[in-house]
Amino acid sequence: MGGGAPVSVQSMTTTKTADVEATLGQIYELAAAGADIVRCTCNEGAAAEGLAQIVPRSPVPIVADIHFHVEMALAALEAGVHGLRLNPGNLRKPEEIKLVAREAKDRGVPIRIGVNAGSLHPEIYERFGGATPEALVESARLELAYFEEVDFQDVKISVKASSVATMIAAYRLASETFEHPLHLGVTEAGPPPGGLIKGTAGIATLLAEGIGDTLRYSLTADPVEEARAGRQLLEALGLRERRGLDLIACPSCGRAEVDVIGVATQAQAALEGMGLPIQVAVMGCVVNGPGEARHADLGIAAGRRRGHLFIRGQIVRVVPEAEMVAALVAEAERIAEEGVEARLAARDLSAEAEAAEDRAALLDSRGADVNHVAERVSEIRRRTT
Ligand code: SF4
Repeated sequence: MGGGAPVSVQSMTTTKTADVEATLGQIYELAAAGADIVRCTCNEGAAAEGLAQIVPRSPVPIVADIHFHVEMALAALEAGVHGLRLNPGNLRKPEEIKLVAREAKDRGVPIRIGVNAGSLHPEIYERFGGATPEALVESARLELAYFEEVDFQDVKISVKASSVATMIAAYRLASETFEHPLHLGVTEAGPPPGGLIKGTAGIATLLAEGIGDTLRYSLTADPVEEARAGRQLLEALGLRERRGLDLIACPSCGRAEVDVIGVATQAQAALEGMGLPIQVAVMGCVVNGPGEARHADLGIAAGRRRGHLFIRGQIVRVVPEAEMVAALVAEAERIAEEGVEARLAARDLSAEAEAAEDRAALLDSRGADVNHVAERVSEIRRRTT
């Protein structure tokens, strides 16, 4: 992020983070809609334990939102998150802030200083006579000073407000004050269409001025709308390429049954030039893959040297591993010609049972905890109790 990287889109899950399957399902939906990074709340030990399971299976980097408790920041780091968001108005003790920064530095994890006009530190609010642009930037500056004391620089900054005019002025000032990447957003923008208009007014104005490295629409709506809006805005401004084929792939984890990167790269090369407007998922295992990517039009998951072809999460055919990419391409063409419903109706009726057999055999032979989640969870419990 920053330093010439494309502007990225973020959104936030609305599920309980402790509900791993529901949260992962939403993360995949968000990734398919255009989110490059997803934030999950880490407000209790069970959420941190959930993150330990979610992070290795997420297709996009996960940022943990820490509220008031330093223990949750440390537990989220233990869970392996890719980033933290700290609100200076919530986590206020300098020693605790520095402790988190030190731990993040040791682990190479970036932190967003997420200043919010609605939860500004009372002392700053008083000093500036309200949540002014100057007050928001001062809050970020003070937090950054704590980080600098422990030589932690891997920081991005946001200075959000629900007032579009305040937010624009605050980010302009922040871009003059800091070298760090800026995360843009109009907070509490409300439901669409008003929320979309407010978010676009603030974010697009700044992006057009060359300010901003990542963004989030904060809508009172399904977060998929946030991700979609972010992506569309960047495409409209010519800051991201338009997507025809949308290929998503799991990051691969201890469960992977195939070289996911290799298969995804081959599938991308084979499908890209075809101009098909479909979402295709390449998933490393049949244990979780079809469920995690159930929102994709089409996907393939590996298991026991076979490829399990699925449409909207339903297994439709099982093919030898060597034919995974070819089967994917052939099915993509048929979906484009005949539509999803027709292809679902034409499925091989024994495929689901075969997949269930492979799933059961994999769980049997490799166990239920190939990502060593139990170890992480016991470390989180040791630190939070
Ligand atoms: S290998 Fe399986 S469990 Fe691991 S990330 Fe891929 S689909 Fe999810």
